[in-house]
Amino acid sequence: MQITRSKALFEKAKNYIPGGVNSPVRAFRAVGGDPIFIKRADGAFIYDEDDNAYIELINSWGPMILGHNHPMIREAVIKAMENGTSFGAPTAREVEIAELITHMVPSVEKVRMVNSGTEATMSAIRVARGFTGRDKFIKMEGHYHGHGDSFLISAGSGAITMGNPDSPGVTKGTAKDTLLAPYNDLEAIEKLVRANKNEIAAIILEPVPGNMGLAIPQKGYLEGLRKICDREGIVLIFDEVMTGFRLAKGGAQELFGVSPDMTTLGKIIGGGMPVGAYGGKREIMEHVSPAGPVYQAGTLSGNPIAMAAGLTMLNYLNEHPEVYNQLNEIGNKLTQGIRKSLDKLGLKYTINHLGSMYSLFFTGQQVFDFNSAKQSNTVLFGKYFQEMLKRGIYLAPSQFESLFLSTALTDELIQKILHANEESLIALHH
Ligand code: PMP
Repeated sequence: MQITRSKALFEKAKNYIPGGVNSPVRAFRAVGGDPIFIKRADGAFIYDEDDNAYIELINSWGPMILGHNHPMIREAVIKAMENGTSFGAPTAREVEIAELITHMVPSVEKVRMVNSGTEATMSAIRVARGFTGRDKFIKMEGHYHGHGDSFLISAGSGAITMGNPDSPGVTKGTAKDTLLAPYNDLEAIEKLVRANKNEIAAIILEPVPGNMGLAIPQKGYLEGLRKICDREGIVLIFDEVMTGFRLAKGGAQELFGVSPDMTTLGKIIGGGMPVGAYGGKREIMEHVSPAGPVYQAGTLSGNPIAMAAGLTMLNYLNEHPEVYNQLNEIGNKLTQGIRKSLDKLGLKYTINHLGSMYSLFFTGQQVFDFNSAKQSNTVLFGKYFQEMLKRGIYLAPSQFESLFLSTALTDELIQKILHANEESLIALHH
């Protein structure tokens, strides 16, 4: 495998872009080596600037659930572009996608489109504060909700990967209103609620966190949060930017049967275009401007091209529920195969898996919260990442990210991944 153009581009990029990339984890800092620059992608594959092909296990960090460059979405985008790229005025397509979202995610009675997951979570917290008249909110250690100031406290994803879970630039004034709890610990929430009686506007969490690597909610945990929020008048926000339309048509809330008051969405909802959304109960969303006094706006929000891509994606998922069985099957085959190799090689590493998301942690301990995720040997992960890359498998370049599978993974490709996985694990231990 020849990698020359990517190296040259990275050297040049570093002159003009901070760290040479437009989003930190892309720089491969946590896994060593230089990032590969991507020229194109199709189906299960991405191709770098040197024309090397890689089997995709990130899929643009989630959106490409049907694989890359899907003809259906490509055609919808091209067709939409023929009528102009932005109007800054309402369109029929926005009404259609809003109706579809409320159908697929029934806890969302009204929804506002934005341009990223970050915008969705920032706005949702503002609305929850406006609705309750309270300032504080609880977030879980190691969960990531985009780069809004109030979320960059014990943040997962790139923030922990780069060693900055608490970012400089976030004022003490902002930070004091973000209360932290470990994930999967209801007693910790009860303590915070007692100590901040009638002051907590919201509890926000990834119901199935993917940003500290994948972790699974323990039995009764999400239900427990629901009960506490009901009792205390706290707005429960599920950040389903990753899990929405992925773990089920209606996201993690459908899978676990727990209904939040508000939901934030992103990634799949845009079919690969820059889209996010937040929504929830009618009486809460009626507080959003111009229906109510909580301000939130966007020049490009509801962009016609982005809506065409998103609408095509969501319509397809809505009409083809068998996609989720297919994704489960792909996830099962892959993770069972990895487990088999681990057993064969006598390695006691942990795999967390749900549907089309999984993480391999380089620790023998169970991983169920941020502290246990941090027990993983990230040096070993970096080596594993490089061994897989050499063998043409593109993983997320950090231990603290889930992998995302697509329907483009055939049995033959799964076997290729499993073969590369076993060879890589062997290479790690020699
Ligand atoms: N919430 C979650 C759960 C996420 O995983 C992410 C991004 N990975 C975000 C919010 C932020 O989304 P964006 O990167 O589109 O701003």
